[in-house]
Amino acid sequence: MKIAIIGGGISAFAAAIKAAKNNKNVTIIEKNNKVLKKLLLTGNGKCNYFNTDQDIKHYHTNSNIDLKEIINKTNIEKVKAFWTYLGVVPFIKNGYYYPYSEVASSMKEALEYTAKSLGVNIITDCNITNVVKVNDKFHITGNNFEEIFDKVIIATGSYAYPITGSTGFGYSVAKSFNHTINKVNPSLVQLVTNLGIEDKWSGVRCHVIITDLNTKKCEEGEIQLTSFGISGICVFNLSRDIAIGLNKSIKESVSINFAPWCSDMLDFLNKRSIDFPKRNIISLCETFINYKLLSAILKFLKISEDSTWDKLNNKEKEKLAQALTDFQIEIVGTKDYNSAQVCSGGIDLAEINLNTLESKKVSNLYFCGEILDLDGDCGGYNITIAILSGILAGESC
Ligand SMILES: Cc1cc2nc3c(=O)[nH]c(=O)nc-3n(C[C@H](O)[C@H](O)[C@H](O)COP(=O)(O)OP(=O)(O)OC[C@H]3O[C@@H](n4cnc5c(N)ncnc54)[C@H](O)[C@@H]3O)c2cc1C
Repeated sequence: MKIAIIGGGISAFAAAIKAAKNNKNVTIIEKNNKVLKKLLLTGNGKCNYFNTDQDIKHYHTNSNIDLKEIINKTNIEKVKAFWTYLGVVPFIKNGYYYPYSEVASSMKEALEYTAKSLGVNIITDCNITNVVKVNDKFHITGNNFEEIFDKVIIATGSYAYPITGSTGFGYSVAKSFNHTINKVNPSLVQLVTNLGIEDKWSGVRCHVIITDLNTKKCEEGEIQLTSFGISGICVFNLSRDIAIGLNKSIKESVSINFAPWCSDMLDFLNKRSIDFPKRNIISLCETFINYKLLSAILKFLKISEDSTWDKLNNKEKEKLAQALTDFQIEIVGTKDYNSAQVCSGGIDLAEINLNTLESKKVSNLYFCGEILDLDGDCGGYNITIAILSGILAGESC
């Protein structure tokens, strides 16, 4: 029984290891000159591979299925057992799992070493261009490559971060086998604004509560203000819905509370100005809000930095207090696939057997990883999806 796995990313290795453990003849075919290129970039080079909080709300699909069919306790236990089998010693920070080495390349070594020791054949520098089924066998062709397999697992990833090799090839294979591809959008991606003050606030990091004004979903944590808009884990976790909305031409906005500790900013500033009557606005606020950010907000509100609180009219006072705790920003776009950590959308899960990851349309054809219409929040959920779907495909193929 010859099994081909197209793509040499994270999900491919989970599938290969599981299949090879069952004594299957497995070949991974990767177009780059080395495998697991994306893995090296994960978690800022430290690889955040799992999370203690396995609430289903961290996983998303546009397919009309019950996510619990795949994201459930039994399957999550399989993922944990997989990492233990590989010998990964976790370093757990606020529920986020990293290898104790805190080096993503150590995870690459663990996956590669295990696969090789189980006899997995790894071919690199081989760009697969065609997969067809003829008389129950898969004919796979690529540059200097032509071979026939009994089963094939497509693990080529999405469009996200194409520099690592994921350029969406698997979607065309799936389409050629009559699979539906649910609308693909960048996700876990930076958001673009057009306020005219981005050059002023660029470089500022601050602790905020940020709310998607359409979905009302909110996140608390650090955001980064950039020359094009906003970034950071909280922003990434809102970007999925916003990218989908923008794609449907829905107006998208967020509200940022730069002072989550303050329940009534207008009252707070009124009292503070009594304690510090001579301070201008900047020095009145400087110890609780970053100077560059405040300066940008004042420019946006057309309020002079030199003014004192008592010189502002009531409307200006209200506008400033609101901007500090409920700064409403229109999102005009997202960064593109080159910056997105993952994609939402992909192969419709209703067309896949979720116990085996085998196509319901074509026997012996499997899909795993980000190519599926299944994605997660920041926090190790996407590697969990890759490993879990790889395990299920590898176990059953
Ligand atoms: C910068 C960054 C940071 C991230 N950090 C995290 C994190 O900390 N935690 C987390 O959970 N997730 C993280 N992710 C997401 C996670 O890395 C992906 O969800 C995961 O790698 C998807 O695995 P995959 O196997 O589906 O695809 P990939 O890992 O993308 O692998 C697909 C492979 O297929 C190969 N391929 C494609 N087409 C062909 C072809 N025609 N022929 C041969 N080979 C082909 C590609 O070269 C690639 O190697 C991050 C992503 C990025 C970009």
